[in-house]
Amino acid sequence: MTGSPSGAVTIRVCLTWQDRGHWDARAQRPCRICRQPTNLRDTAGAAAHKRCIEDAIEAKVAEFARRLIAAETTPIHATREVSS
Ligand SMILES: [Zn+2]
Repeated sequence: MTGSPSGAVTIRVCLTWQDRGHWDARAQRPCRICRQPTNLRDTAGAAAHKRCIEDAIEAKVAEFARRLIAAETTPIHATREVSS
């Protein structure tokens, strides 16, 4: 018997926000995640820090990975061959 499945998860997301649309020089607005003021805008135009969104994505991916580890499963799509 080996006990419960366990493992480490390391997720690093780095969004590419080089487009000028991500900077609004006109006004700072509260980030939709941390509520601190920012000139940055997400792709939809909402005020958001890049790092806040990256952290949120990382948290969701890490949670998904932890569930897969706990069940020691892999997504069906990762093991299925795709034919065209
Ligand atoms: Zn923020």
